[in-house]
Amino acid sequence: MEFALTQDQQMMREAARALHEREIAPVLAAHDADASLPKAAMLKIFAALAKLGITAPRLPERDGGGGLSMLAYGLMFEQLPPVVSIALMSHECTIARIWAETTAENRQRFLPDLLAGRKICCTGTTEPDVGSDPRSVKTRVVRDGDELVITGRKMWITNVTICDLINVSCDEGPDARGLATLRRLVVERDKTPFETREIRTLGLRQGHLGEALFDAARVPLDNALGNSGDAARMLTLTWNGNRPLVGLAAVHLAQRALDLARDYAGLRVQFGTKIGGHQLIQKNLADIETAVMTSRLLCYYALDAIDRGDRANGSSAMAKRYATSACEQAISLAMHTHGAMGISEELGLERLYRDIRMLPIPDGTNEILTLIQGRELTGIDAFRA
Ligand SMILES: Cc1cc2nc3c(=O)[nH]c(=O)nc-3n(C[C@H](O)[C@H](O)[C@H](O)COP(=O)(O)OP(=O)(O)OC[C@H]3O[C@@H](n4cnc5c(N)ncnc54)[C@H](O)[C@@H]3O)c2cc1C
Repeated sequence: MEFALTQDQQMMREAARALHEREIAPVLAAHDADASLPKAAMLKIFAALAKLGITAPRLPERDGGGGLSMLAYGLMFEQLPPVVSIALMSHECTIARIWAETTAENRQRFLPDLLAGRKICCTGTTEPDVGSDPRSVKTRVVRDGDELVITGRKMWITNVTICDLINVSCDEGPDARGLATLRRLVVERDKTPFETREIRTLGLRQGHLGEALFDAARVPLDNALGNSGDAARMLTLTWNGNRPLVGLAAVHLAQRALDLARDYAGLRVQFGTKIGGHQLIQKNLADIETAVMTSRLLCYYALDAIDRGDRANGSSAMAKRYATSACEQAISLAMHTHGAMGISEELGLERLYRDIRMLPIPDGTNEILTLIQGRELTGIDAFRA
């Protein structure tokens, strides 16, 4: 077993950190911290990420992708602020899904602009009445000649208000158990316009979470992805990779909180001594560091399991659930270590606290992840009899 990063892994991590400092942080800083970024700013960020190969890290290099292991991608992903990394994940895993499920011709049609960061994409599964149980989607697709007609509403979709293309999960009709037969379709916004609306949220406020309405939207038959009914399998494959990535987004935030708390403990004086010299403050710092380190290692472990080809349903669910809750507590403790200063907007810790609160929800809530891990442990499905 090897715990140290290889030289290549260190270089990749440094490259992502440097790219963030040089090309991404200035874009974020130039805009209102509480308003969604203009599309032009997001395109600038995606074009920068394309230089690192992480707009399509899961695709082979021969197809224009980064050809990266999930662990290598995770090491770079961790260096980005979540308002960027969560947008990137939505974009790049949509690319991976399209690449895996369509023809060579369609790859050429859809992917080059997305890989280069000239266009933005996303995946819409969640609906107003359908969240944790995607097999109940109500957005309907019916065939009409050589077109497919989509009717329904998608909600809580990352990037949707600024996307050029969306991969929509639809129901083709009930299966033998009465559940939706899922089918995924590509909708290109310039050819099939659809309405979107932004949803303002507690955290990740420079990001884009929104809803989309498909009112008998027509796409060519050819825009259907994969085979009828296999969308659930494809979603599971990408979710397994996404979950430890969301965990690493939490680690990014908690590491920043740890750095701030450690610095403050070395400066702030109470009772005639630096607060870092008080034993209980040292315990706070030790607890925060333990949360960051254990979360990071679990996420790396789950990503490495995927790279090794092991079944990762349990480890990736465990990594995301653990990391998002341990890091949320760690940020709260870092705020507490700052006394009243911890809740000030000036310091910025309160923003980390709001941002991390967003992360236990996408790609499986903590309850859902617990049941996935439980199913792996027992072989018993607690979702449906
Ligand atoms: C930042 C962010 C980004 C997102 N991005 C996307 C995206 O790009 N695309 C997309 O399609 N969706 C996206 N979502 C939506 C997300 O996937 C859903 O919000 C999530 O799946 C939960 O669905 P819900 O909100 O409808 O909650 P519900 O499913 O209604 O759940 C409500 C509560 O009930 C609990 N619950 C549900 N079922 C069970 C059960 N069997 N046992 C115990 N408890 C249960 C849940 O854990 C939760 O606490 C995003 C959400 C957020 C916050």
